[in-house]
Amino acid sequence: MTSFPAYERDPYASSLETCILRVGEEKGRPFAILEDTVFYPEGGGQPCDLGMIGDVAVMDVQKLEGEVRHYLGARLPEGPATLKLDWGRRFDHMQQHTGQHLLTAVAQDQFKWATTAFHLGPAVCDIELDAPSISPAELERLEEAVAAEVRARREVSARWVSVEAYGQEAVRSRGLPEGHAGDIRLVLIAGVDLNTCGGTHLRHTGEIEALKLLGTESIRGGTRLFYVAGGRARRRLGAHEQRNATLRTLLGAPDEDLIPALQIKLDQLLTLERRGRKLEEELVDYQAAAMAARPETLVEAHLECRDMAYLQKLARGILAADPAKAVFLTAETGGQGIFLLSAGEVSTLDVPTAGKAVAAILGAKGGGAGKSFQGKASSLLARKQAVAAMLAMGQ
Ligand SMILES: [Zn+2]
Repeated sequence: MTSFPAYERDPYASSLETCILRVGEEKGRPFAILEDTVFYPEGGGQPCDLGMIGDVAVMDVQKLEGEVRHYLGARLPEGPATLKLDWGRRFDHMQQHTGQHLLTAVAQDQFKWATTAFHLGPAVCDIELDAPSISPAELERLEEAVAAEVRARREVSARWVSVEAYGQEAVRSRGLPEGHAGDIRLVLIAGVDLNTCGGTHLRHTGEIEALKLLGTESIRGGTRLFYVAGGRARRRLGAHEQRNATLRTLLGAPDEDLIPALQIKLDQLLTLERRGRKLEEELVDYQAAAMAARPETLVEAHLECRDMAYLQKLARGILAADPAKAVFLTAETGGQGIFLLSAGEVSTLDVPTAGKAVAAILGAKGGGAGKSFQGKASSLLARKQAVAAMLAMGQ
């Protein structure tokens, strides 16, 4: 590899003609070492680049012992190779990562909060700040201060310095990776920040487009601050707009009334649930008495919109009134069929055997203990056959 890889020399290079120097395999994953590369290996909180080498997909890129390993979807031969980045992914990472430099610098210089960690997630990013808490007003000021630096279109540049020269530089965060040898890469945001970094950056802060702070979360000894930058901010706003449009249709209310409209619906739901439970409590006793008075030994019934708790309560009521009976109850709940087979104390029904037979006929999953067997079925179409089978068993 040339002294500095292409992703460090020119982060805007999205393709490259180079050479595969060596190929190998690690735990069944083929990898290639290249003469030069545009693929950024995972590091510094920034995920690796993806893309293609020839017509083979690059699945992962890691730096190991000073070498960049490109893990491939299939083996490739040594020799000339054409590299092509998934540029959408890379540019997104450049926006989030350069955004982080700026956010960290502004948080430190204007609020005295130092950044202790950075995560670039698939949907949102976060930095960890050594601030015990951050108020909504402070968040607003921080976001505004970052926006001012985005509007200022501050130039972002990288240069390499010797270890000796590095000591003279006003670098924000000291500390080099273990085993570091050779020149050190410094990344400058003109007038705002100077830091050591091996990552990929935008040309100027204007390309961040916008950085939106999303909220905070307390962590041990500090605060995690969530944000999105660039295209992510626009896509996230787009998703919010789409969701709001659906909510406006569902609730029949404009944006500013969505929350009160939803609260009214939830209150109504709670009232109806309470009323439904009360009615069920009253109904189950009547239903149990009526079914216990039936002449047949096997009492069977199908009920609409009842859950297993109701079926169990009903079965207990019937069998308390007539312990010689057995009950077979079915219901539909949440788009699914449920069944309960239960026998009274002096019933002669072999519940485990009958339960298994019923489950097999209904194509259901079920189980039980002693004189009770219950289960779930995607359909109750074979209910009549299940009843006939139980009657044939002598009930
Ligand atoms: Zn960086």
